[in-house]
Amino acid sequence: MNETQQTEENLNPLYISKCQFDRAVMQFDELKRGLLEFLTTPKRIIEVHFPIEMDDGSVRMFKGIRVLHNQVLGPGKGGVRYHPEVTVDEVIALATWMTWKCALVDIPFGGAKGAVICDAKLLSTAELRRISRRYVSELDDMIGPYIDIPAPDMYTDQHTMAWFYDTYDKLHPGENNRPAVTGKPIDLGGSFGRTEATGRGCLYVTERYITVADNLPFDSLKGTTVAIQGAGEVGSVVARLFKEQGASIIAISDSQGSIYNDNDNGLNLEQAFEFKQEHGTVVGLPDTRTITNEELLELECDILIPAALGRQIHQGNAGNVKAKLVVEAANGPLTPAADAILQENGVIVIPDILANVGGVTVSYFEWVQNIENQQWELEEVNVKLKMKMQHAVDKVIAQLHRLNEQQENPDKEQTQNVCGKPDLRTAAVFLAIDKLANVTMERGIWP
Ligand code: NAD
Repeated sequence: MNETQQTEENLNPLYISKCQFDRAVMQFDELKRGLLEFLTTPKRIIEVHFPIEMDDGSVRMFKGIRVLHNQVLGPGKGGVRYHPEVTVDEVIALATWMTWKCALVDIPFGGAKGAVICDAKLLSTAELRRISRRYVSELDDMIGPYIDIPAPDMYTDQHTMAWFYDTYDKLHPGENNRPAVTGKPIDLGGSFGRTEATGRGCLYVTERYITVADNLPFDSLKGTTVAIQGAGEVGSVVARLFKEQGASIIAISDSQGSIYNDNDNGLNLEQAFEFKQEHGTVVGLPDTRTITNEELLELECDILIPAALGRQIHQGNAGNVKAKLVVEAANGPLTPAADAILQENGVIVIPDILANVGGVTVSYFEWVQNIENQQWELEEVNVKLKMKMQHAVDKVIAQLHRLNEQQENPDKEQTQNVCGKPDLRTAAVFLAIDKLANVTMERGIWP
């Protein structure tokens, strides 16, 4: 993205989530003003600063963040990200999206998110373990099974969650602490299917959408061409599962670049992941062409799946997207300007709060299993996940139809002028806000 484009568009994630909220709120006949403020204001923002002894004996300061956005539906729930560029505003936006996701799929959790500002790729395992333990101990009783429950996100995984759990358990001896953290290894109370849940949920959501909706030139994944940005926990699973259903994965990327092969079968994924394991990147895999991440987003393909960072498709490149369907496996990969441009160009977008909600759904299953001291079979987890994903897609499509019908009412012309025709994101956010507003009023404003 060049400098001019950056000055033209506000890329602050908090601004982006607020735009999405406002666009959905325009569709309501009435919502109390104070309630709107309550639904956009985080309940608490914690910043912690702590020293870590590095492997070479030096001492470095780190900053950790935990945002609890809303607890109306239950304890906070959200991943923890280790990234050098993460900001408090970004964590607030991510926590807000978690609140909407849980409300949308009827999970009894509120939204939360956390981060440690660090470059995980430059840290040793021992340094990461010390950072993880210290972060959890600094958060102290601000997290817990009925307060706020962490999970993995970018550059954290089940090993990080094992350290989180172990630290929390040491601080709370004599209790069943397993439900305090999700995304744990299986033998520590993790759920079968959690590691691939976000990617699998993304598959179920996409399959349901393309079979039910009648606005795409394909009604199954068989024979479709797919480009995926990101080859991490989410992107790699999405690639494998979409391929199993007959899609051809023509491009995939990581932080170092993208590989591309548009022959009939697309990329050989097993080779690509083995190569990444060995060389730390997919770039350089024999028989593939190296392209930039920007080029990947603009490839001629049926489905584009951003599965890495936020704000990847924006005012500057949205007009060049040639995919017919964009599935937001990542959180916040599109800006509001990109939404408008893609809608104008007839590109369908399955929004993040629906497309990647499989992760928090199986985290919820893990929490239930931990409370009951049970472990469900993988098949049971996947059947339950599929039902939840299909139900959520059907709800969002039905809501979009209702919003479109309302817009045909002349009284609503004003709304249409201000925020354009509703899309799947507007419908999904509408459903989430509607539920949160109703439950808040049912519970009554305290005291
Ligand atoms: P990960 O750390 O496992 O993988 C991230 C991937 O993105 C890596 O392949 C990395 O190389 C790539 N990447 C980093 N910078 C890039 C860049 N500039 N260009 C292209 N690729 C780049 O993370 P993950 O868990 O797979 O998460 C990916 C996205 O999915 C994030 O937006 C995350 O918030 C979202 N998400 C994850 C989960 C989950 O359960 N892990 C759940 C919901 C949403």
